[in-house]
Amino acid sequence: MRGIMESAEPTSQRETPGTDVAEVRPRITPAMEDYLKAVYRLNADGGPVTTQRLADELGISGPSVTNMVKRLDELKMLQHTRYHGVVMTKAGERVALEVLRHHRLLEVYLAESLGYPWDEVHEEAERLEHLLSDKLERSIDRALGHPTFDPHGAPIPTAEGEMPALSNRRLSDLAVGEVATVEQVSDRDPEQLRYLGSLGLIPGQRVQLRERLPFEGPFRLLVGAEEHVIGAPLARIVYVVVDNAAGADSAEPAGR
Ligand SMILES: [Zn+2]
Repeated sequence: MRGIMESAEPTSQRETPGTDVAEVRPRITPAMEDYLKAVYRLNADGGPVTTQRLADELGISGPSVTNMVKRLDELKMLQHTRYHGVVMTKAGERVALEVLRHHRLLEVYLAESLGYPWDEVHEEAERLEHLLSDKLERSIDRALGHPTFDPHGAPIPTAEGEMPALSNRRLSDLAVGEVATVEQVSDRDPEQLRYLGSLGLIPGQRVQLRERLPFEGPFRLLVGAEEHVIGAPLARIVYVVVDNAAGADSAEPAGR
C-alpha cells in the first residue's frame, strides 16, 4: 500500500553488474511495470516479498505470478530465491521509480490542469503511466512547476530516480491528545478518498486525536474546527507527521 519508502534494506537489493537498463528497457511490458511497482510497494511495507504476497497485491493467480517473476528474473529486474523471496535489483528499482514518477506527475496534471477530483486521478494515471515518453514527462513536469508531491501527498521520485523520505506514522498510531499534520493518504480506494475528503482529511490538514476507544474502536478526531469519528481501517491509510510542540491544543489547517 505504501510504495514510498526510500532507502531499501541492505538485503532487499542486489547489485547486478552488467545489467544495461537502456538495453533491457524496451522489453519491459506494462504488465511487468505493474509487477515491479508492486514489488517496490511491498518491499516498502517490510518483510520478504513472497509470490503469495505479490499475487494478493495484484489480484492475480499464483501460477501466473510465478511465471512473470521468472521472466523478470531473466531480464535481471528481480531475483527470486527460496529464502529471500522476490528481491528487486537496482535495474528493477529504477524502472519502478520511473513508472511511479509518471504516475504521480500525471495525477498532479489531471488534478491541477484538468480539474479532476482527487478520487478519480489514480485510475487514469494507472493506465497512462505506461505510455508517457521522456519528452512528455519533462514537458508536464515543467508546465506544473516541478511538483514534489502528488494530490494524495505521495512524493514524486526525481528524474534521477531518488525518492524522498516520508513519515510512516499513521493516524491510527497517534496517542490521545497528540496533534499532527496529514502528510499522505493512500490513493487506492476512490470511495475512501471521497469520504476522507468530505471530512477534510487531506494533506496539510492538522488533526488532533481526542479519544480512542479500545479494541480497534473508532477514533474521535478534531479536524480543523470540526469533530469527526472514523474507524481503524480509515485511520490506517492516513499518514501523519506529529507536531513537535507538545501539548499544542489547536488543530488549525497548515499549509505544506
Ligand atoms: Zn495513484
